Amino acid sequence: MSDPITLQILGSGSSGNCAFVRVGDTRLLIDAGISCRRIEQTLASHGESIENLSAILVTHEHSDHIRGLKTLLSKYPDTEIFATRGTQIGSERLVEAAQSWTTIKAESPFEIGEVRVHPFKLSHDANEPTGFRLDADGFSMAFATDLGVWNNTILEHLSGCRVIILEANHDLDMLRAGPYPAYLQKRVASSRGHLSNDQARSLLSRLPAPRPEWVILAHLSAKNNAADVALNEVKKALKPEDTTRLIAAGPKPAAPFDVARLATPKRPAKTPSQGSLFSTSN
Ligand SMILES: [Zn+2]
Ligand SMILES: [Zn+2]
Repeated sequence: MSDPITLQILGSGSSGNCAFVRVGDTRLLIDAGISCRRIEQTLASHGESIENLSAILVTHEHSDHIRGLKTLLSKYPDTEIFATRGTQIGSERLVEAAQSWTTIKAESPFEIGEVRVHPFKLSHDANEPTGFRLDADGFSMAFATDLGVWNNTILEHLSGCRVIILEANHDLDMLRAGPYPAYLQKRVASSRGHLSNDQARSLLSRLPAPRPEWVILAHLSAKNNAADVALNEVKKALKPEDTTRLIAAGPKPAAPFDVARLATPKRPAKTPSQGSLFSTSN
């Protein structure tokens, strides 16, 4: 089987988070924190559609992760949504149909088409937030955003993944000097807030081999971070032998990119490139 795996970031950051993943005929959306119209338009521009989605996985109930769901479910009521019970309860304010969702639990993997989904617990100020590791034949990818701290369990779930979507929310100095009031700064920096560039770097430095091919920095704060600041900090975690490509996701839809499903031949060791693939809007 040589079908590529497709990943497209439709939006990342506090203005809305949404990603599309396709593995063969299995099509998933991770969160729907942007408008239904933008999801429709972005998917359509690459020949995909909401009707063809296998499911939507929801990480937690904050509006930047579920903003588009109410409209989406009213237009496409058959869409399958998977979320923890806590996320469902938290979403009911915004999404009336939350009761009909499929309940999942951290550390209870399940299958959607050809993807094995492994939810894992995150520390964040939401009811029952999770990250997701997606495993398919010859391929693993993980989503870990909206977490105040990382631990060994999270590290294990990210280990061996070829693609990691990792939060690098803020630069601590920019947060302290930035426009947020003290209580909000405290919340963001707390163990139930968001991962800083420093924390993302330390997580990445601890990942065992095989190291990821792609690390996509996500959920960057528009006020307390900048793509070059995040990339410069996190790249310190890369070892000379790493071939990891490090890029930063932006708030606007990025072009989809394909990753070969089966192990690709080793690239010659070279300085990791810091592409702007995910910061260019289309
Ligand atoms: Zn959140
Ligand atoms: Zn968020």
